[in-house]
Amino acid sequence: MAIKKILIANRGEIALRIHRAAHEMGIKTVAVHSTADEMAMHVRLADEAICIGPPSAKDSYLNIPAIISAAEISHADAIHPGYGFLSENEKFAEIVEAHDIKWIGPKPEHINTMGDKVRAKVTAGNLGLPLVPGSPGALSSVEEAKRLADEIGYPVLIKAASGGGGRGMKVVDDPANLENLMQQASTEAEAAFGDPTVYMEKYLANPRHIEFQVFGDGKGNAVHLGERDCSLQRRHQKVFEEAPSPAITEKQRADMGATIVKAMQDMQYRGAGTIEFLYENGEFYFIEMNTRIQVEHPVTEAVTGFDLVREQIRIADGEPLSFTQDDVKLTGHAIECRINAEHPETFAPSPGKVIGYHPPGGMHVRTDSALYHGYQVPPYYDSMIAKLIVYGSNRENCLRRLNRALGEFVIEGMHTTIPLHQKLLENEDVQAGNYDIKWLEKWLAEQNQAD
Ligand code: ADP
Repeated sequence: MAIKKILIANRGEIALRIHRAAHEMGIKTVAVHSTADEMAMHVRLADEAICIGPPSAKDSYLNIPAIISAAEISHADAIHPGYGFLSENEKFAEIVEAHDIKWIGPKPEHINTMGDKVRAKVTAGNLGLPLVPGSPGALSSVEEAKRLADEIGYPVLIKAASGGGGRGMKVVDDPANLENLMQQASTEAEAAFGDPTVYMEKYLANPRHIEFQVFGDGKGNAVHLGERDCSLQRRHQKVFEEAPSPAITEKQRADMGATIVKAMQDMQYRGAGTIEFLYENGEFYFIEMNTRIQVEHPVTEAVTGFDLVREQIRIADGEPLSFTQDDVKLTGHAIECRINAEHPETFAPSPGKVIGYHPPGGMHVRTDSALYHGYQVPPYYDSMIAKLIVYGSNRENCLRRLNRALGEFVIEGMHTTIPLHQKLLENEDVQAGNYDIKWLEKWLAEQNQAD
């Protein structure tokens, strides 16, 4: 290993996750942190820690000069960005590489291509991935939009090319509203992302969200590690993820997997990536590619037995992939619950001081969290405070174990979404794996009415 010291440009559970993989590989770690995170677990565990600015993320975890300085001062020879923050910022990736520091992530040009949704779709289409029917690129006029919508059939969805987090999207049911809604989408996109470009897709009524994990060595070798089903979402945010998907067959996985692997080989993709699809009536439709490690990667680790962060570090160090497609054997079932510091019914943020903490344990139970007794959860960052990942020999055993583990989990001092997950597990549709991306919002609305 040429890499001796990794600077972790992140915080919370993912910073710990990276630290753990690095230490198991004999690599030292450097934590960076804001003034609000002086007492954070990633700061305590890392070999060195450097303060990079005030609480606001834009002045600290997004502060590129401060992070690069921290890497130089500490003589880190690689940077891992985790997810969120600077992980999909190709300029940051370029700056890191220009400083002769290894970037534990994809090639900057691939981050750039996949970061623009119109370009990503065109690229995916050229690579042979199935697309949602829609405009071939950006919409250039209302006339073009009308003609296309007639061809595709209503309802259609207007989406922002620079969109993210589900923002800047408009569903159009009626041709009479097309012009108006297209204008609104474009204005909103300009305000939110500084880019008014919009494109059109057929609006799928009840799809599932199914995503494939991939790895490439950057030289034309690539593998897939099966899929995750992340259909249980609230406001386009994933709440509960599982692998494998209860909805697809082994043959569909193998076929789609082979198409994806071919695409990644052609692209000479490097590092970890996720290809996201909507899935409806037996068909996959590409929506986007994430060029980073995902929050929900542990469910894939549980069913494959591979350490995905270790693999990322190896690839950044120029090592070949440590497994071939034939080595990837999916066994059993895994589910992740995202636990947020929020009220389980109103979802009001509830950052507080941890006055009691007991993570669940036992066989096949994993808690990824940066919480500890006495820790004050700062109000400035993401509300996710823990991930509970449970494995079982099959889905039914996994659900039972998950229920048992949630029952053991104690986090005192703030509201958490643990009761939401417990309630979800009582539901027949969840038990049967019978849900799509609309399911959770509908269920939550029913719960509110019942109260
Ligand atoms: P973002 O980058 O803003 O998250 P995505 O393209 O990933 O945008 O879409 C976010 C979510 O919006 C999807 O997970 C899905 O719930 C919904 N969505 C996106 N495209 C469509 C579509 N064509 N039909 C129906 N729902 C869609």
